[in-house]
Amino acid sequence: MATIIRGGRVLDVRAHRADAADVLITGDTITEIGAPGMPAPADATVLDARGILLHPGLINSHTHAHGNLAKGMGDRWTLELLLTAGPWISGGRTLEDKHLSAKIGAVEMVLKGCTASYDLPLEFPAPTPEGIHAVGSAYAAVGMRAVVAPMVADRTFYEAIPGLMDVLPPALQQDVEKLRPAPWKTSVENMRRALSEWKLDRDQIRLAVAPTIPHHCSDEFIRACVALAAEHGVGLHTHVAESKVQAIVGLQRYGKTLTAHLDDLGVVSDRFTVAHGVWLDEDDMRRLGDRGASVAHNPGSNMRLGNGLADMRAMLERRVNVGIGTDGANCSDNLNMYESMRLASFVSKAQRPDIERWVTTDEVALAATEGSARALGFQGLIGRLAAGYKADIVFLDLGHVNWIPLNDPTNQLVHTEDGGAVTHVMIGGRMVVRDRRLTTIDVAALAREAEAARERLARLNAPGQELYERLAAVVSRFCPGLAHTRTTSRGTSAAPDRAPTAPRVVDRSIEESARGSSSPSACATSTHPSRTWSDRERIAAPANSSSERHTCACERPPKLHTSRSVSTPIASSPATFAATSSGEPISMPPTAASSS
Ligand SMILES: [Zn+2]
Repeated sequence: MATIIRGGRVLDVRAHRADAADVLITGDTITEIGAPGMPAPADATVLDARGILLHPGLINSHTHAHGNLAKGMGDRWTLELLLTAGPWISGGRTLEDKHLSAKIGAVEMVLKGCTASYDLPLEFPAPTPEGIHAVGSAYAAVGMRAVVAPMVADRTFYEAIPGLMDVLPPALQQDVEKLRPAPWKTSVENMRRALSEWKLDRDQIRLAVAPTIPHHCSDEFIRACVALAAEHGVGLHTHVAESKVQAIVGLQRYGKTLTAHLDDLGVVSDRFTVAHGVWLDEDDMRRLGDRGASVAHNPGSNMRLGNGLADMRAMLERRVNVGIGTDGANCSDNLNMYESMRLASFVSKAQRPDIERWVTTDEVALAATEGSARALGFQGLIGRLAAGYKADIVFLDLGHVNWIPLNDPTNQLVHTEDGGAVTHVMIGGRMVVRDRRLTTIDVAALAREAEAARERLARLNAPGQELYERLAAVVSRFCPGLAHTRTTSRGTSAAPDRAPTAPRVVDRSIEESARGSSSPSACATSTHPSRTWSDRERIAAPANSSSERHTCACERPPKLHTSRSVSTPIASSPATFAATSSGEPISMPPTAASSS
């Protein structure tokens, strides 16, 4: 069965042009793009696209199905507080809730011009084949493509952050013990079953493996995930160096960066996607680029959680494949890929005044299409309007004010469009959105289901909210203290007994905290918008650097910042900082670099 789209203008991202062209589709695939009026089979369905700009469906390289029912539940939370909030905002979900939450996200994405996503859903204490199917079948019902990679871990958040468990009062230690994930063999076995028994069309919905955060997983678990992904020829996806806390914990635990650690475990390959990568250093990016790996760049979430600004230009220079993502609605509150593209462009420009290092709108648009397609493992199939590619096409109304006037279609796609001009969305040759309405599912019924689930879950998870509030009182002090560290090329190794040649050392500024230049919250990464790129470069200080560097950019620019602090092992840093800055006589014993 053939369809011909006549009268539209087809976006050429690289050329910043949108010339008139007709698009012939056979089945689910584009078979020809040619001059207006080109021949088509006599029985082809004709779609009138006069006044329409056609662009390839946007591809979301990182989101979380479970986040959609938790949309808008928090405001001022860091990544670490978001992880603390998990049992409250994502707990108690039935299989139907998991399906519903995924569906809400898929609906939002397609209505906003996104046709495929890399989704990392949560199931506690372990993923199940039924839970994974509940998410995959939601995408199928909406008519969208997805790669579903359930997040797995075998440590609690409180064990993953060295020292955090020690500072919890005994009653809270008992509470968080109940949050322990299943033994890793259970997770691997359940994922293996899901992979073996997968019934959905793999051209539309695929699976992948997501050891969620490196230090939340034992090394043996990560190795088993690598083996499982290889066994089934699927991707691996992990949050890496998303927050400064994570970057520092990596150095503490492993005496090397999280990326170097994952590389040593065999994770880094052309099937591997790093989510976020805000705190990657040059060596990390080189490893990722050399192995053909991807980064899912989520600029909105990175700012929303106070994690900083990832350096897309540096990644591209080291040949890292960059895709664009929204992250989950529990930490970016919408799944609007136009907004993510706009922010990816703006974040690059906000980092430095050297315009030659700013990413261009075509680089961003290509990242959100071809780059994300490669991250999903769909390269050559989606992400481009060309013969042989799947017919995943967004129809934008050029009569919408976003396009009045039309000056440069690539610039306007990235900087002006916000989803408001999306009129139709075709996925695999099927009209999933027509005249701004979904053709596949009833959104009013979805809204009723969501409201009923919301009410039920709010009641069910009230104790989870209460637990969150007690835990947040500790986490919100401890983790910013951990982030408030400094790097130096001399001093004690981060993990001297395990990594005598560690390339960098992290220590703390005693004087900073003792001077009381700021409260921990005022100095935390979570509240400081301007500090990030310089922090990251300083964390990445080369081993032969002779200058001592200060990671707190909250006072003055790096060149003016002379260090007056004493080098101390990182292991004692967060606890001491938290204790000295909290003003409370709680005991926060020094932590030890913990073994993996
Ligand atoms: Zn994520």
